[in-house]
Amino acid sequence: MPEGDTVWQTARRLHDALAGEVLIRSDFRVPRYATVDLAGRRVLDVVSRGKHLLTRIEGGLTLHSHLRMDGAWKVFAAGRRWSGGPAHQIRAVLAAADRTAVGYRLPVLELLRTADEHRVVGHLGPDLLGPDWDPAQALANLLADPARPLGEALLDQRNLAGIGNVYKCELCFLLGVTPWLPVGDLPAERAGKLPALAKGLLEANRDRPVRATTGRRGQDLFVYGRAPRPCLRCHTSVRVADQGDGSRERPTYWCPVCQRGPAPAPHGRSRAR
Ligand SMILES: [Zn+2]
Repeated sequence: MPEGDTVWQTARRLHDALAGEVLIRSDFRVPRYATVDLAGRRVLDVVSRGKHLLTRIEGGLTLHSHLRMDGAWKVFAAGRRWSGGPAHQIRAVLAAADRTAVGYRLPVLELLRTADEHRVVGHLGPDLLGPDWDPAQALANLLADPARPLGEALLDQRNLAGIGNVYKCELCFLLGVTPWLPVGDLPAERAGKLPALAKGLLEANRDRPVRATTGRRGQDLFVYGRAPRPCLRCHTSVRVADQGDGSRERPTYWCPVCQRGPAPAPHGRSRAR
């Protein structure tokens, strides 16, 4: 599932390919926009807000898309074969003279007035990679519901925008607490470091093809995806369990030694350490 850094990279790729270019063809393969034609309009810019993509087009229009679990925008040079998936998964095509952007499997695709962008991104908390980043506000949002498990609070894009399940797990490891720790129980000194730590991870990865949090080659992540292999720090077997974010369960990894706080017991009951 894309994290904020992946969406930021996608926005930059689309911006580099299309910004300033006049569209020679558009093709929306969703019933609602089947008749929309953006040919002749210039693409102004493409930005990410959290995990949302906003493609701004001459005439006060914004194409809003979201990648959710496996959506993708691919850019192809004119005349090259499109390789992002089978044709029936294509939702949108934006073609300029030299470059064509093709949106695959986009679960959210919406054309709106640029003046109305707040309707689709106005609910987001401060964006870790955005111009509105505000660490104090992000922390206040996270701590507003003290009983909420830290992992859930980190995924809630209304608190701060850009963290997905991978960074959720890695951040909890770096903070030394489990994703099930109520945010109100996070020691103040660690809570204070959280916004900068989160921003640091996303910034370090936004120009990188392979996501890494450890700084060790070949061992890119501390806990995510490692169960039941040993923790990079203490060699205890990394565990995995589902943690809901209100919409779905997500595989959540942690080290039972390096991370303090409640965690699911092997048979599904929560316990405190
Ligand atoms: Zn460990």
